[in-house]
Amino acid sequence: MMLYKEPAPIKDRENPFESMMSRFNIAAEILGLDEEVYNVLKTPTRQVIVNVPVTMDDGKVRVFEGYRVIHSTILGPSKGGIRFAPDVFLDEVKALAAWMTWKCAVVDIPYGGAKGGVICDPFSMSAGEMERLTRAYTQALIDTFGPDQDIPAPDMGTGPREMAWLMDEYSRMKGSTIHAVVTGKPLVLGGSLGRVEATGRGVMVSAMAAMEKLGMDPAKSTAVIQGFGNVGAWAAKLMAERGVKILGVSDVSGAYWNDNGIDIEEAIEYKNNNKGRLEGYKNAEKISNDELLVSKVDVLVPAAVEDVITIKNVDQIQARLIVEGANGPTSYKADNIINEKGIMVVPDILANSGGVTVSYFEWVQNRMGFKWTLDRVNERAERIMNESFERVYAASQKYNVPMRIAAYIVAIDKVAMTYKYRGGF
Ligand code: NAD
Repeated sequence: MMLYKEPAPIKDRENPFESMMSRFNIAAEILGLDEEVYNVLKTPTRQVIVNVPVTMDDGKVRVFEGYRVIHSTILGPSKGGIRFAPDVFLDEVKALAAWMTWKCAVVDIPYGGAKGGVICDPFSMSAGEMERLTRAYTQALIDTFGPDQDIPAPDMGTGPREMAWLMDEYSRMKGSTIHAVVTGKPLVLGGSLGRVEATGRGVMVSAMAAMEKLGMDPAKSTAVIQGFGNVGAWAAKLMAERGVKILGVSDVSGAYWNDNGIDIEEAIEYKNNNKGRLEGYKNAEKISNDELLVSKVDVLVPAAVEDVITIKNVDQIQARLIVEGANGPTSYKADNIINEKGIMVVPDILANSGGVTVSYFEWVQNRMGFKWTLDRVNERAERIMNESFERVYAASQKYNVPMRIAAYIVAIDKVAMTYKYRGGF
């Protein structure tokens, strides 16, 4: 079997596509994946690069480069968010698209994987500029998107507002209202109850399942959470409700530690009244994000950005359990040391898949023209998360591999089997 060759590193951090492929290669070898399927899965099905002109508020026209990468449509229409960021690059979008394929396969929902990106700085753009950019990007990809083809969602730099514009622009061009073309919409526009907290809730469910396997009592365990945005704050709140003492939380402004446990409700209220930041939070000692990651706790939840657990700090990590709320928080070069230390990792493609699961529920509700109750959404999402955790745990026992490789094995096996049934050309 021809194995993937390492591309030249991009920028100073590890290439995310390279990280994804290293783990994919290990799982593919263990599974004995045949060369035909390997070659199909190692590269995206389709990569679209668009350049969209947008009139800025000063009257000048700026051209923005955007991407949409469809990694796979073997399991169904492709699904994945759109990232608006100044440093987004094609290899990152390719990795994120592949992660979406594996994520949907791990939780057994009928979607392939995709991701989009636009090089722009959303924080320096006005609402009008953002709207014109989102509409122009949608127009450029009108033949790619579609409720049975490719279904976008929010990612960093985009949210319900942009999804509403995307849905509206797509619907105008097609001549009728098509809610199911995008998920993560505002509630009044066909969004799903429970979507906002879905990823953090899934992180909590995964953490509880892993603690049970490790014989840890949540009420006697401690945790720290890096990142206090959508995923981190919800995970912190729901874990605290299960009795876990959250000793530290953090965001871009730094980390906040309290030996008696952070009052999560209070910290969320503080953040909401402080432009989304913990900066200046009083009932805690200020430490650095680096210190937070290596602090003496039972559970570490990275829920901020990529590549925060690396060969530089992995030796000092003291937690017994890492639950990856963020996408790609652990660099693949740190994997071996984590395994040697006997730390259990619930990997990103499992731990944060609660978000895409409830996005799938949103799409299902849109197609039925029906709205589910919050209880129904939470109950079904929790069942899917628990079943997926058990599938991955069973694979880790069967193949005697860490949970991360087990998750890739479960995902690749499912996609490869489906490919075999559908047949190649
Ligand atoms: P968010 O923008 O709501 O929050 C991000 C948080 O991380 C903020 O508190 C921010 O201050 C903090 N942060 C940013 N850079 C940091 C740094 N260098 N050190 C410490 N903290 C930092 O984003 P989110 O939606 O919570 O997403 C967080 C992660 O979870 C991302 O990796 C994202 O791809 C992943 N994820 C999100 C979802 C979802 O449904 N929102 C689903 C799956 C995966």
